[in-house]
Amino acid sequence: GLSRLFRNLYGISLRLARVTPGEVWHPDVRKLEVVDETSGVIGWIYADLFARRGKPSGAAHYTVRCSRRADDDDAHRDLEHVWDEDTLKAVQLSDKFENAHRARIPGTEGVFQLPVVVLLCESARPTARKGPTILAWHEVLTLFHEMGHAMHSMIGRTEYQNVSGTRCATDFVELPSILMEHFLQSPKVLSLFDIKGNMTTGSTHHHEDPCRSIDTHTQILLAALDQIYHSPAALSPEFDSTAALAMLYESRGLIPYVPGTSWQTQFGHLFGYGATYYSYLFDRAIASRVWRKLFADDPLNRETGERYKTGILKFGGGKDPWHMVSTLLDAPEMVNGDAEAMAEVGRWKIEDEVSVPGRH
Ligand SMILES: [Zn+2]
Repeated sequence: GLSRLFRNLYGISLRLARVTPGEVWHPDVRKLEVVDETSGVIGWIYADLFARRGKPSGAAHYTVRCSRRADDDDAHRDLEHVWDEDTLKAVQLSDKFENAHRARIPGTEGVFQLPVVVLLCESARPTARKGPTILAWHEVLTLFHEMGHAMHSMIGRTEYQNVSGTRCATDFVELPSILMEHFLQSPKVLSLFDIKGNMTTGSTHHHEDPCRSIDTHTQILLAALDQIYHSPAALSPEFDSTAALAMLYESRGLIPYVPGTSWQTQFGHLFGYGATYYSYLFDRAIASRVWRKLFADDPLNRETGERYKTGILKFGGGKDPWHMVSTLLDAPEMVNGDAEAMAEVGRWKIEDEVSVPGRH
């Protein structure tokens, strides 16, 4: 189904590839070749979808190798500085491997290193007794979300690896993944999963979370808390993170603060995402706008897909995201990414019925 969706949108399909002995870390892992109809293979996704003992829980997309331009590398000069035989052999072996994973993209100058990513999910493994795995709605949503990140990595073609695909401004990194969640809500997209019309098992009605608005409200509080902790107020010797949390919950919370608790110690995103926790909400607002303006009426339109692919996905972090989004949405007032542009995104609002808060 995902392959059919990408073929409709981008002319890209997913193909199961053979693995060589020792290439994957568990027999459950499937290697997918991502094939463009004109350029051929553009990258690889290792899909490790079933839960098992010892595997990290949760879903994730992570990059093994980014795309980058490789034909202006200066490997020969690098080798001049390698003196010992073992290192030399290792470098040459890696060179040989790398050369087999590069491609000239038609219509683009240069030769590109092709991306490799891993996609982790934790669905139940099919068994002989229970039969095939039937994914719950939230699991399909998660798969679509992570696939959005993976395709951002696959389609990104930038000169440098550190700005390829998902390596873009944190403010925009969740846009491609949350947009994919909108696709899943569309009956036209869902029909791609049942081309023979013989869906027999379970219910096709999707699960609606009755608490979704409370979840979104909590996300807003957490984003506000993250901003408070990263504000100059935190530099004061009198600053008390628990008091700040209590004050926020008392003034804006749905449920009052419970004395004696310090939930902030469990808020992992405070570290690493420093002051950008709001991005999830921010990208939900943008994704919703992109969906409505471009895809909602005709979600499988190739022309729109191409516009989004070549206007956003291809550039990763290699172009000002505000420029890309304002061009895509035909909203020139947003091009500067200033306070006015932020306020405009604020007016777009978040749709609770799409997207599960807190996914990464
Ligand atoms: Zn994500």
